[in-house]
Amino acid sequence: MTFIVEKYGGTSVGSVERINAVADHVAEAHADGQELIVVVSAMSGETNRLLALAEEINPDRSDRETDVLLSTGEQVTIALLSMALQRRGVDARSYTGSQVRILTDNFHGRARILDIDSTRVRGDLKQGRVVVVAGFQGVDQEGNITTLGRGGSDTTAVALAAALGADECRIYTDVDGVYSADPRIVPDARRLDRITVEEMLELASLGAKVLQTRSVEFAGKYKVPLRVLSSFKSGPGTLITYEESSMEQPLISGIAHNRDEAKLTIRGIPDIPGVAYRILGPVSEKHINVDMIIQNVSADGTTDLTFTVHRNDCRTATEVLKQIAEEIGAKEVSGDDNIAKISVVGVGMRSHAGIASTMFKALAEEGINILMIATSEIKISVAVEDKYVELAVRALHKAFGWDQEPVEETIPTAVA
Ligand code: ASP
Ligand code: MG
Repeated sequence: MTFIVEKYGGTSVGSVERINAVADHVAEAHADGQELIVVVSAMSGETNRLLALAEEINPDRSDRETDVLLSTGEQVTIALLSMALQRRGVDARSYTGSQVRILTDNFHGRARILDIDSTRVRGDLKQGRVVVVAGFQGVDQEGNITTLGRGGSDTTAVALAAALGADECRIYTDVDGVYSADPRIVPDARRLDRITVEEMLELASLGAKVLQTRSVEFAGKYKVPLRVLSSFKSGPGTLITYEESSMEQPLISGIAHNRDEAKLTIRGIPDIPGVAYRILGPVSEKHINVDMIIQNVSADGTTDLTFTVHRNDCRTATEVLKQIAEEIGAKEVSGDDNIAKISVVGVGMRSHAGIASTMFKALAEEGINILMIATSEIKISVAVEDKYVELAVRALHKAFGWDQEPVEETIPTAVA
């Protein structure tokens, strides 16, 4: 008997019709003898609708109450899907995150899963039930409802699959897999059959919205067999793998772009040991993720530091910076949110030179100015002006040869 955790995102449960379609699919798999946990998101648009209500009532509300509100979106879907399953003769039971006891820390709005109590769920599975779990939510030590951040239902699914030892975790969404670039921007973008977990992690954190980054981290940590596929049409989707088959690895696996970042600069910092920490320490204490970082030394013994954060964190980060600037005697703080980040990702970079120059050449030919550059072993990111995103992504997709018919491109294994 196979044991599968399935997750359906907002568009996949966005209407009565769609919920019925999911129920048909689940009922069929159940009849085939599969053991199933189904994790669902809120119906599409619901989380945003709830957020807008909260904004209208009180922009300065506590994060605790925001979580109480937002968690209701998923609660609606678990009940509706369970009812739809019952109508098909399937013994189904729904649980909220706190009912399962998905224990999290107490960072409302971005809580991390600490532990999952699997007793109740296991008991139901043993009795042949389909278990339907609300994604995106948990409960802290004190019993407060928490949420896991936007897109967090993916993480619920992967965490449940890890905790209960599922044979596969399937993330059903509105695209049929992971693509070489956003198909809305690049019409000839290709679906990838497989992608390594490292590449997926980079792509997710670099802006590919298909999986929440944390779910990929979780999958990597526990080696959860993970597949992304469409709930609208059948197909193999994209399998996340844990081994690189270096023989068949394409040079680049994907191009991600992200318009959600803002660039902050602090100028005229006294150039002494410890200043980077004095500046970035307090930013991270606010749980703000810092992404690209550049430090430059200027002639007069001072230094400039530029880094990017999520746009939503821009205001808080600017406030923090202004205070630090005063404390350490830096001259000026400025912010710019008209930027976008574009990244090329591929484990093939490890054994291949020249990828950066291909990238920079393609951008130069389009007259796109690069504002920042950051690299890791398997990715190169550039920040450019917002208005160039689409042009840049298309140019890069072409520069790496994806506009041509698929060729069995192989790279030589590293020569010992
Ligand atoms: N409903 C939540 C959101 O829109 C969580 C999810 O869908 O994964 O972010
Ligand atoms: Mg999602």
